[in-house]
Amino acid sequence: MSSFFFKIIGIPKFGEISLSLRTVLSLSLRLALFVIAAALVYHLLWGRLFAWSPVKLGYKSLPFQRADIILPNDWSLPPELQNADGIFADCENFHGLRFNKHITIILAKTPEVARRCSGVRGAACAFQTGTVIFLSPTKILANGRKLTDQLKHECSHALLDQNTSLYCGFNIPEWFFEGLAIFYGNPHDNYTGNTFLELAVDRGYFFDVLGPYDTLKKVPEQYRYGFKHSEFRCFVEYLAAKYGIKTILAYAKDLIQDPWAERALFERHFNKKLETVADEFRKEVYARQWPSSTNEGNNGHRQAL
Ligand SMILES: [Zn+2]
Repeated sequence: MSSFFFKIIGIPKFGEISLSLRTVLSLSLRLALFVIAAALVYHLLWGRLFAWSPVKLGYKSLPFQRADIILPNDWSLPPELQNADGIFADCENFHGLRFNKHITIILAKTPEVARRCSGVRGAACAFQTGTVIFLSPTKILANGRKLTDQLKHECSHALLDQNTSLYCGFNIPEWFFEGLAIFYGNPHDNYTGNTFLELAVDRGYFFDVLGPYDTLKKVPEQYRYGFKHSEFRCFVEYLAAKYGIKTILAYAKDLIQDPWAERALFERHFNKKLETVADEFRKEVYARQWPSSTNEGNNGHRQAL
């Protein structure tokens, strides 16, 4: 049929349709690329990729042997962090492991910036890569905590993560991963001593330390997170007192390579079943024999109820 016919009835020819589809596809592709590029730039400058951005607007970098500390241009390095390399060395010596990658420590200007760039609500976090640590100094200090303690806690996470694969790191049992980090880094935070016992026993917040952690729903939200971490720490402290820290750290080295073998590895290192030890811990807590005033690092009331 002649082109005159198509023009008369208003139907474009096949070639014209193809051309217009190609144009639409081309425009769509360009739009998609633009959106991806814009999202990438946004996340590098102000979002989740900030830690890896070559340009950090409003922030400066202070190089250390083991890490770069990134902090706002108008801040000076907090005195507590002047010896950052010493903190890393201490963490290595305690755990008997070595950092094999450089770390970026970011001191977020505000808790909102920390949350936006790390995706975590807390005052501090370590990325699962083991190479990025976020600290929110204003929030840490407002909580009455020490920057050094928080950094040590996150260093413990980063060190374990650097010595295993990403997949294994995701599967390290929470009670151990958090319990060890608090035991090492910030044992005086949250609820200790009699305060812990009051929450655990008198108020009935004690939960199965091995999980699942559904029963924590009964704990009022204001105590839930802190109490959970306190019980994890309390259990690791219990293990350290009864079996020695060397046993715990030897277990840690094997556990991070095969977290699915949690129970078999525990029995090999502690010569007892994990469930049995967890049950003994529970009984001692209910009998108020643990935490004991002589064994716990802080037999006080660090955080008032
Ligand atoms: Zn932690």
